[in-house]
Amino acid sequence: MRVYVDPDLCSGCGPCVDTCPEVFDLNDDGIAFMKVDEVPEDFFDACRDAADGCPSEAIVIEE
Ligand code: SF4
Repeated sequence: MRVYVDPDLCSGCGPCVDTCPEVFDLNDDGIAFMKVDEVPEDFFDACRDAADGCPSEAIVIEE
C-alpha cells in the first residue's frame, strides 16, 4: 500500500496526526508529511482511517 499527502490540499488541521502519529506529522509550515517511506502493514488501517477523516481529502492511498 502506498500512502502520500498532497501538500497543496492539506490545510494543516491535524487529525491525521492524532489518528496515526506513527505515520503522519506536521512540518514547520504546519502541513502534514509522511514520517516513513514505507507504511508498515500494522498501520494500514490507521492510514485508511486518517484518509477517511481528512476533510481536505489530502491523503492519497493506492492499494
Ligand atoms: Fe492535512 Fe488532512 Fe492531515 Fe488535516 S487531516 S493535516 S488536511 S492531511
